[in-house]
Amino acid sequence: MQKVAFIGYRGMVGSVLTSRMKEENDFAGLELFFASTSQAGEKSPDIGMDVPPVADAHDLRFLSGMDIILTCQGSDYTNKVYPQLRESGWKGYWLDAASALRMKDDSIIVLDPVNRNVIDQAISKGVKDFIGGNCTVSLMLMAIGTLFQNNHVEWMTSMTYQAASGAGAKNMQELVSQMCMIGKKAEAMLCDPANSILELDRNVLSTMNSNEFETRYFGAPLAGSLLPWIDAAMENGQTKEEWKGFSETNKILQNKTPVPIDGICARIGAMRCHSQAMTIKLTKDIPIDDITQMISSANEWVRVVPNTKEDSLKALTPAAVTGSLTIPVGRMRKLNIGEQYLTVFTVGDQLLWGAAEPVRRMLKILTGKL
Ligand code: NAP
Repeated sequence: MQKVAFIGYRGMVGSVLTSRMKEENDFAGLELFFASTSQAGEKSPDIGMDVPPVADAHDLRFLSGMDIILTCQGSDYTNKVYPQLRESGWKGYWLDAASALRMKDDSIIVLDPVNRNVIDQAISKGVKDFIGGNCTVSLMLMAIGTLFQNNHVEWMTSMTYQAASGAGAKNMQELVSQMCMIGKKAEAMLCDPANSILELDRNVLSTMNSNEFETRYFGAPLAGSLLPWIDAAMENGQTKEEWKGFSETNKILQNKTPVPIDGICARIGAMRCHSQAMTIKLTKDIPIDDITQMISSANEWVRVVPNTKEDSLKALTPAAVTGSLTIPVGRMRKLNIGEQYLTVFTVGDQLLWGAAEPVRRMLKILTGKL
């Protein structure tokens, strides 16, 4: 039986991962250990089988006894522990949801419905580090990766509408508390239909700009607004989130000639589904029916949504997609700019295909179950 340590099981990604693994009976057949940086000695989570108490995630002796380490703990942990472990001669598999090792030359970014061939080749060559991709990139490739794989993309821009969960649990709480405060302060006005809409608007704005409005984690109001900046600044004016679109996509696909990708990433007041609008310059004019066929047959989770108001509002929104593995792709049409210009809109649960699912499936691949 392979010994597997699961670190970061308490966090947001780790909790979703634990629940998916329970649902799919993934824990069966593993000698499993939970480890934490703060809960060592506590009872392990209930997963329906006997598991030892929580281990110390900094204990190198414990870690070096593992065949596989799966961590959702974050980059600080990886940067601290991974080098020490490898220097000590540990040869096991390292699976990680954090970004720290993603761009390392000898790591693979995993998204098996798109790059299973890359993963299989890497395993046979002895690669040991398999890392989950950036959520927006993984969701985009689940939706339209087939167009890249068939060399149909000359370049792409993506404009993203990213959920609060991408910034962490505290940010999700802050979004809801902002919504709550706006609602409470405006409640009396909403109950009186005689109030003018401009008064209601002024009331909301003054709540959002008041000192008591909670903005500690986002740094600005998100409810009733939008934040056109995600992650750190790069020297060229991009944000790091925008930089990942190009670098991670081309690494996942192992493109010898990188496809140009760029755009703007924005945070919106959705809870845990990212949406993105893509403009794609195709390498040639491909009929929209052929594109529809290619996308809808690319994997078992993608669904093409007809380009109608009714279908889009029913199936192509964060409210419709949250909690599901389905990746809807809609608003698909050729732009008026020309027949080689395609636009599509897609939505995906960023804690499932955007974070937990690729890592969960990679564990199954390494344990011979997928
Ligand atoms: P998180 O919720 O902040 O959890 C990380 C760790 O924080 C937990 O494992 C836990 O470690 C500790 N923690 C402290 N107080 C806690 C509390 N009250 N409840 C739960 N955990 C607590 O981080 P995350 O959002 O899951 O992200 C983990 C990694 O995945 C990050 O590197 C992130 O960039 C990456 N990732 C995230 C997403 C996303 O959508 N959030 C998507 C893709 C990748 P101890 O048990 O050791 O205390």
